Amino acid sequence: MSEVVAESRTEKLDPSRGVRITDSLTNEKVPFVPLEPGRVRMYVCGLTVYDDAHIGHARTYVSFDVIRRYLEYKGFDVRYVQNITDVEDKIIKAAEKAGVSHLEHSRKYTQRALGDLARIGIRDPDAFCKVTDHMDDIVALIEEIIENGLAYVSDSGSVYFDVAKKEGYGKLSNRSVKEMLAGARVEPDPEKRNPADFALWKAAKPDEPHWESPWGKGRPGWHIECSAMSERLLGQPFDLHGGGRDLIFPHHENEIAQSEAAKGTDFAKYWLHTGFLNVEGEKMSKSLGNFITVRELLERHAADAVRYFYVLTHWRSPIDFSEKGITEAAAALERLTRTREELDKRVSGHEQPVDRYLAVANAASDAEKRLFEATERFLSVFTAAMDDDFNTPEAVAALHAFAGDLRKALSDNGHVHKALWAYAHDAFIRAGRVLTLFQDAPAEAAGDKTLDAVMQALLKIRQEARERKDWATSDAIRDRLAEVGIEVQDEKTGATWRRAS
Ligand code: AMP
Ligand code: ZN
Repeated sequence: MSEVVAESRTEKLDPSRGVRITDSLTNEKVPFVPLEPGRVRMYVCGLTVYDDAHIGHARTYVSFDVIRRYLEYKGFDVRYVQNITDVEDKIIKAAEKAGVSHLEHSRKYTQRALGDLARIGIRDPDAFCKVTDHMDDIVALIEEIIENGLAYVSDSGSVYFDVAKKEGYGKLSNRSVKEMLAGARVEPDPEKRNPADFALWKAAKPDEPHWESPWGKGRPGWHIECSAMSERLLGQPFDLHGGGRDLIFPHHENEIAQSEAAKGTDFAKYWLHTGFLNVEGEKMSKSLGNFITVRELLERHAADAVRYFYVLTHWRSPIDFSEKGITEAAAALERLTRTREELDKRVSGHEQPVDRYLAVANAASDAEKRLFEATERFLSVFTAAMDDDFNTPEAVAALHAFAGDLRKALSDNGHVHKALWAYAHDAFIRAGRVLTLFQDAPAEAAGDKTLDAVMQALLKIRQEARERKDWATSDAIRDRLAEVGIEVQDEKTGATWRRAS
């Protein structure tokens, strides 16, 4: 039977392939059945780029990286999109403080933050989308909502969503519309029909960044970007929508309202929310002095130890960060890494993955049978853990138990055919990679290689400008690089670059 036929039969029997997830819409663990068999479209709310990425961000993005990796492990074809909020009040304020333009500020922090998340070893989504690249989509979506009668234009040229008109508003956050409409704790706003109404489009204030629209100059409200960009890049409805727990209300509640109001169909089928990261039991905040950026963390700890630390906690649970926790994680990870190195030696020259049938066919001696059985046991425990709402703590425990079996097998003197080592090796490595471990080319090194090639090309263009005495271009290149944290030094033998400390 061909693989394709086999796969489509399995798909008919169980389109979830055994995966169950806790959906925030119902707060229940349910089978994950994608809208289209075998394909998963997922969207996760991204960074607001006004400052460096911090360890709470990394927690959320490691969690979704693992979820995406496991769905791929199960054979789903996953398309993962993440937005970048590059127009927002916080960016406007931070840019003002830094004395630079809004766009300059957001460009700088997009580069820094995405670079830092990549250095921690989080795989990039298939696409990033920026608000400033999708203004037309945003305006068009607001027009649809107005046409459908669920939004209105205020005297000042802002557009508000009319919450009272939206059936089912409050279904994600379990809030009562009546209470929200009463708006007991919200200042009345003469612009709005109801205190709970929220802005889809904000009329321009003097000196703020703005774009043209049918309602005059202005900029989008925060929520509309995700409705517009997810629909553009994934279509509507799509399968999985994620973000940190803090986004349930108002952000995700409002995304649902807007998208349903515009298109008249469901928005996302399942909602996933990560637990928040605290630092030694306290909320992380600049005022408490316990705020840790990814950059700072990577100065003290190896990226793989940080990722390992994150996956020790279930993605829905809060996670308590501590230096001690990471140090202990590094020690535990070391045991897995050493086992992996020993295993690598046994398979050298036989790196091709070996399928189960070949492994069974070669399991003749007791030692071979033991290794085969340990691998099978591991695969079933690992899959059961991850199928069960991506239970990474149990999956890590399974990996350690398997590492113990492997160390026993490695110290055993019985003859073991290479095919069995290869089968065990493949199981160990593939599962580890789902948990973001065993990334062969550390992200930092891989990133730097590519970066170095790009930098050499840029330095050459700068050198040519200098030879033409085009000092303006030469200085502009140096200054732009400084903004993204790269220092250029002119030396006798030519220019060199390094990351600014
Ligand atoms: P922001 O840039 O603040 O909009 O956050 C980007 C993403 O990171 C959102 O999905 C947030 O929910 C998530 N996030 C922010 N802070 C934390 C935290 N302390 N713990 C976990 N996730 C967080
Ligand atoms: Zn969003």
